[in-house]
Amino acid sequence: MRRPDLCSSTPSQALGSLRTTTPACTLNIPSEANHTEQPPAGLGARLQEAGVSIAPWQGLPTWRKRWKRKPHLMAEDEPSGALLKPLIFRVDETTPAVVQSVLLERGWNKFDKQEQNTEDWNLYWRTSSFRMAEHINVKPWQQLNYHPGTTKLTRKDCLAKHLKHMRRMYGTSLYQFIPLTFVMPNDYTKFVAEYFQERQMLGTKRSYWICKPADLSRGRGILIFSDFKDFIFDDMYIVQKYISNTLLIGRYKCDLRIYVCVTGFKPLTIYVYQEGLVRFATEKFDLSNLQNNYAHLTNSSINKSGASYEKIKEVIGRGCKWTLSRFFSYLRSWDVDDLLLWKKIHHMVILTILAIAPSVPFAANCFELFGFDILIDDNLKPWLLEVNYSPALTLDCSTDVLVKRKLVHDIIDLIYLNGLRNEGREASNATHGNSNDAAKSDRGGLDAHDCLPYDSLSFTSRMYNEDDSVVEKAVSVHPEVAPASQLEGEMSGQDFRLSTREMPQSKPKLQSRHTPHKTLMPYASLFQSHSCKKKTSPRVLSDHGKAPDPQAGNFVLVFPFNEATLGASRNGLNVKRIIQELQKLMNKQHS
Ligand code: ADP
Repeated sequence: MRRPDLCSSTPSQALGSLRTTTPACTLNIPSEANHTEQPPAGLGARLQEAGVSIAPWQGLPTWRKRWKRKPHLMAEDEPSGALLKPLIFRVDETTPAVVQSVLLERGWNKFDKQEQNTEDWNLYWRTSSFRMAEHINVKPWQQLNYHPGTTKLTRKDCLAKHLKHMRRMYGTSLYQFIPLTFVMPNDYTKFVAEYFQERQMLGTKRSYWICKPADLSRGRGILIFSDFKDFIFDDMYIVQKYISNTLLIGRYKCDLRIYVCVTGFKPLTIYVYQEGLVRFATEKFDLSNLQNNYAHLTNSSINKSGASYEKIKEVIGRGCKWTLSRFFSYLRSWDVDDLLLWKKIHHMVILTILAIAPSVPFAANCFELFGFDILIDDNLKPWLLEVNYSPALTLDCSTDVLVKRKLVHDIIDLIYLNGLRNEGREASNATHGNSNDAAKSDRGGLDAHDCLPYDSLSFTSRMYNEDDSVVEKAVSVHPEVAPASQLEGEMSGQDFRLSTREMPQSKPKLQSRHTPHKTLMPYASLFQSHSCKKKTSPRVLSDHGKAPDPQAGNFVLVFPFNEATLGASRNGLNVKRIIQELQKLMNKQHS
């Protein structure tokens, strides 16, 4: 999506601007003005003549007849007095500051209950979920930043139960990405049996377990133990196999924070963000001291208060975070197949969300950002640790600024794209101005708006055959990137196991698996925004057009991933069919 041209002079440009209006079009609206939920018939009809439909939620709760200063944004042939007005966001004291600043930067206004009617807002973003009544009463022009009923995913005990159920239904091999988990107190005897059986098998070797409160976050209340006598738990705890063969970088443990946005459960639509965070422990990994949280927990809330946080640490440097793209490029420098890892993460995300999707009640006009915490072991196998509700958007360091500001921008682009898509034709072609360039460059680093490397991902049967994945297509459109098929060939039969738990400190003398010119880049959009000149608007389909948009900023559609899964997610979710399709894809990709 492009920035709008503020001086839009055609109706369609005006609508385009509405999507990302800037403060220049702010109007002072008299409070006594009449409120209607639709634009005046004159402009509405003209917009439609121009091939543009107006999304009902899109933010015209009020059309005003008077204004105090001449607006910059007005359809040129509109009867004087009809105006477009900036979108309005609503917050509470818990709303992250970065959300507010990004929305203001995009030209949104903050809801003020003294000045505005209670329903005059377009987006309500807060860090606590909404009551069902709030979902039911949402207006067509409004969006809420949570779906109802998703705690099934974000409470550790519920997640474990749902994934266990899926494992029973669809086989252990698909759902082997969650560490063996016992929910206390119900599974206590099962855990004790497992513990002692394993002890017997291992002989003198130790086994490791982690005990976590089911509904706490930020590493609070966590205990790691090896000896049964150290095991203490309360109600609402889970005990989980501790992944002790974790991938180490510079001898530090790390995990990945992957951002996932579900723009709808009915039909199910899942996007994965191509940038993210890698969170490091700030003291060296050491299994002989399980009490040292700075060595075993990667939560930044813990590590930022550690003595080593500011120190320049071996390989990882200062602080406790990398961007995901830095991590993947680090892996590539060791000749690791990062694309395969990335695909596995996509599959894990889909399989996890499928576990709860059928039971999420329908609610219109909402989306939700989840934070998937994923640990990689020294076999390069990803493990799901938990799914975070309302992942932290605080800006603690420059890496946070780089990732999270753009993340919020891209979420806004994504929900707009989806809203417009539902309503009709090529509205997104409306305007391609760049009046907001300054804001854009301030978003931190790489900006995929300038380049849509996933253009060819447009979801059509013509190009999207049943076995293709989004990532494969993404890769194949870049000359710099190895075609997936070639990659599959190159990778087939390889043993991904790293010989040591730790990445070696000096570059290993491995035979290169692909030439430098064919570097694998699952994050193509992040790296090529400046070199790629091709500009194509995102596809916007009609209601009959079925397919969700393939990309918004760094969000890439991972579900539905082909025509079959698209069909299986409409008119009720056919989980069995979807799992079959996913299985086929995984067999192909992982073979
Ligand atoms: P919280 O919600 O408190 O952050 P997590 O499940 O994310 O709980 O665990 C916190 C940290 O503990 C993780 O970021 C990771 O570093 C570590 N951890 C959690 N579970 C495991 C596990 N099964 N194996 C290894 N490390 C783990």
